Amino acid sequence: MRVRFAPSPTGFLHVGNARTAIVNYLYARSNNARMVLRIEDTDLERSTRESEDSIFRDLSWLGIRWDEGPDLGGEFGPYRQSERFDIYRSYTERLLGEGNAYRCYCTKEELDRMKKGGDGEAESYTYSGRCRSLTDDERKKFEAEGRPSTVRFRVPDNVSIVVNDRIKGPVEFNSSNIGGDFIIVRSDGVPVFNYIVIIDDTLMKISLVIRGDDHLSNTPKQLLVARALGLSEPEYAHLPLIMGPDRSKLSKRHGITSVEMYRKEGYLPHALMNYMAMLGWASESGEEILPIEDIIRQIDLKKLSKNAPIFDFQKLRWMNGMYIRDYPLADITILFMPYLANAGYNVDAIDRTHLETVVSILRRYCDILSDIGHLAGIFLDEVCVPDEEADAMLKSDDGKNVIRASRTIIRDRLDSANFATGLIPAVKGATSLKGKSFFMPLRAIITGRQKGPELDQVMAVIGYDKCKMRIEYCHEHYCS
Ligand code: GLU
Repeated sequence: MRVRFAPSPTGFLHVGNARTAIVNYLYARSNNARMVLRIEDTDLERSTRESEDSIFRDLSWLGIRWDEGPDLGGEFGPYRQSERFDIYRSYTERLLGEGNAYRCYCTKEELDRMKKGGDGEAESYTYSGRCRSLTDDERKKFEAEGRPSTVRFRVPDNVSIVVNDRIKGPVEFNSSNIGGDFIIVRSDGVPVFNYIVIIDDTLMKISLVIRGDDHLSNTPKQLLVARALGLSEPEYAHLPLIMGPDRSKLSKRHGITSVEMYRKEGYLPHALMNYMAMLGWASESGEEILPIEDIIRQIDLKKLSKNAPIFDFQKLRWMNGMYIRDYPLADITILFMPYLANAGYNVDAIDRTHLETVVSILRRYCDILSDIGHLAGIFLDEVCVPDEEADAMLKSDDGKNVIRASRTIIRDRLDSANFATGLIPAVKGATSLKGKSFFMPLRAIITGRQKGPELDQVMAVIGYDKCKMRIEYCHEHYCS
């Protein structure tokens, strides 16, 4: 059993494509199949090596492993389409020689004119077949004029083509409704992907093609080519495309759509993998957070919904937070470090045990690694400049009362041994404030925020001097 993922290296790895890769990978793992990575880079202008490298990196980061590919080699290589042009040429010659394809000399202007003469809809335009039956003389005349030519596949009339799709069930097409004789080689000699995909799938002995259902309409064309060349036909499973929360095609306007951006924002690969692997089906127990091995054991194409799954950004964020909290502390601390550095902290100068303590408290408030940037100051800054909410609180009467009482008490009655447990009851007693009226001002003084970790925990970690400094800072700014 063999499956493949066949990205075009024309940009970043989009989550939609990543999901296709993930389903292929899970299928391969659960069926003991080999996974092929094929790079479809025949769009020579838009394909780049940087994009290819970034696709390799993002797939590897997600934990996807392949068995054959441009980087690993394999029995059926080369695995970049741009390195297989000789192979395609021999098939094109066969198609031409056997009359299943022909050269078309229509110029762009002529084609445009034919389109306008039709119903004007480029989408539903069917090539008139003008060059289908040129005589030898006509062909020679065009060649003598130096007219460039494309190669078109001769689509037979009124043939039923049934794609037995493993997700959608049988989907029937009629050859008369697929747009007429389609171009398989452009005038610059570069073959069109819709043609060479089936050649490669056959030569690479792919048994099941799992891909997005935006390719479903390509399938009858690919099957016709396979039939004309006597090639074996793979099976197909077309995955419904992922939609945004408003049920339109997932796009940047809904949120992050590239795997690279998820990585940069501080999503964990296990969380993204888990979330995307569970799109469109539910586990036996209904649990959503599952180790990859359990997903591999349970996933089944038959369970995948025929309906388009909705990409729920909030849920992915929530799931990522669960993974962050569950991660071994030493490892997640290392993963947080670049984000702390990015927020301006010299992480190498901070004692690792202290950093782990800080992370052990703050990770509860982080759904993504970058969330730590605006929380770390609670522990790592000297004083916490109050944010807008905290500022309003400190300007109130309760705020000022708590500042004054805290200052007197920490100066006169407490020391580093007893302040962390002693400050709260003593200030409470002195101000006679209770509940929120007491804690919100104190929280604003100590952390500069109105939300966050337990105050006694914060005070124990930052210590007497820092605590005192923060109280003095507030006294100076709000009470003098
Ligand atoms: N290269 C195509 C793409 O990136 C995929 C073709 C296929 O899976 O058949 O959309």
